[in-house]
Amino acid sequence: MSRFDKDHYKDGEIFNGFDYDLQVWVKNGIVQICGHLSPECGCNQRKYAELPVARARILEALETKRIAEDHLKESKGEL
Ligand SMILES: [Zn+2]
Repeated sequence: MSRFDKDHYKDGEIFNGFDYDLQVWVKNGIVQICGHLSPECGCNQRKYAELPVARARILEALETKRIAEDHLKESKGEL
């Protein structure tokens, strides 16, 4: 086990490397905090910092669903 040149997956989740869906760096299965100076940078890297990537993926999916539902309501004039 000495492959540092490729992303490393474990149980279908990225374990060490870059998660392209969430756009975050992952180390030992945990989302790493970004290096942006502003705490309000708004990137996923900060939003999901220190969470297991599997958890971050669930939160992201829920948020995407909520936004989609809001748009749907808006288009129906319910908001
Ligand atoms: Zn950031």
